[in-house]
Amino acid sequence: MIIAIDGPAASGKGTIARRLAGHFNLPHLDTGLLYRATARVLLDNGASLEDAAKAEAAARGLALTDFDEARLRGAHMGEAASVVGAIPQVRAALMEWQRRFASRPEGAVLDGRDIGTVICPDADVKLFVTASPETRAQRRALELRGRGENVNFADVLADIRRRDERDSGRSAAPLIAAPDSILLDTTEMDVETAVQAAIAAASAN
Ligand code: C5P
Repeated sequence: MIIAIDGPAASGKGTIARRLAGHFNLPHLDTGLLYRATARVLLDNGASLEDAAKAEAAARGLALTDFDEARLRGAHMGEAASVVGAIPQVRAALMEWQRRFASRPEGAVLDGRDIGTVICPDADVKLFVTASPETRAQRRALELRGRGENVNFADVLADIRRRDERDSGRSAAPLIAAPDSILLDTTEMDVETAVQAAIAAASAN
């Protein structure tokens, strides 16, 4: 079974994806990490995030050592990832990698922005997880503070809105719900309620 989970930043899709993977005993790929790692390589090399040729080379050359989560999860890395994510060559370079992951015999859970629309259009279950920008900013601020970052709510909300705009407005694989996806608005839900709703939706398939 392939489960595709898309949605904007801090909507809860990562938690839901991890829990679904555990529930159905499937491998899970957080595809945002691929974009974050690509951005990280560019920044480490002093290259511009908008240099398409270097960004494509960075995406094609990703190695396991580039996936140090502590270096990829910071507030500014989400923003940097969304800049490289708007480059079509980067998306093409990362597509095969994601499709290979999804083609395991047992299936997989992938979460991102274009899984149900571009990467796995034939997924068995598609969820589009969303929440209001304010709720998402609150969750992200809590998460970042838990990680020791000294962030304020207004900055996090501004970052969320900027990323929403960039992710939804780009021409290459914009963030949109696949027409056959199940919408899960987690604004009024706690984590457990959202996870149970996702499990119920996937089980009904
Ligand atoms: O999901 P996460 O917040 O880690 O993603 C960081 C950025 O990477 C997103 O804002 C988006 O621009 C980009 N991304 C993407 N396609 C994906 C996953 C992430 O464009 N499948």
